[in-house]
Amino acid sequence: MSNDTATAPLPPFRGLSPRQQRGMDCVWCGVTLTASTAVDLGPRPLKILDYATRWFPRSCQSHSGDAAYKALLDHSKDCPTCLEGCETGAQLRQAVREARR
Ligand SMILES: [Zn+2]
Ligand SMILES: [Zn+2]
Repeated sequence: MSNDTATAPLPPFRGLSPRQQRGMDCVWCGVTLTASTAVDLGPRPLKILDYATRWFPRSCQSHSGDAAYKALLDHSKDCPTCLEGCETGAQLRQAVREARR
């Protein structure tokens, strides 16, 4: 239960689709965002090789305070294979998706 979105953890940038990286789709579930559904998560520092920049992640409203994505985060930050189809990560992502309904 925190509204501190400026420091909230996010999925790894390199695991996101180009649309998610541009803030067009939810960083959590990939749903397409509209002006009325998007939640601005604030600018985040991003380092690509030696190039430091920022990106502007957005999510859909159903993810604020959602337990499933917190579990996914806790898991994925320690899991080296999450971006290559780790099963636990896939199950957690599924749970995140279902929590939206
Ligand atoms: Zn979402
Ligand atoms: Zn994993």
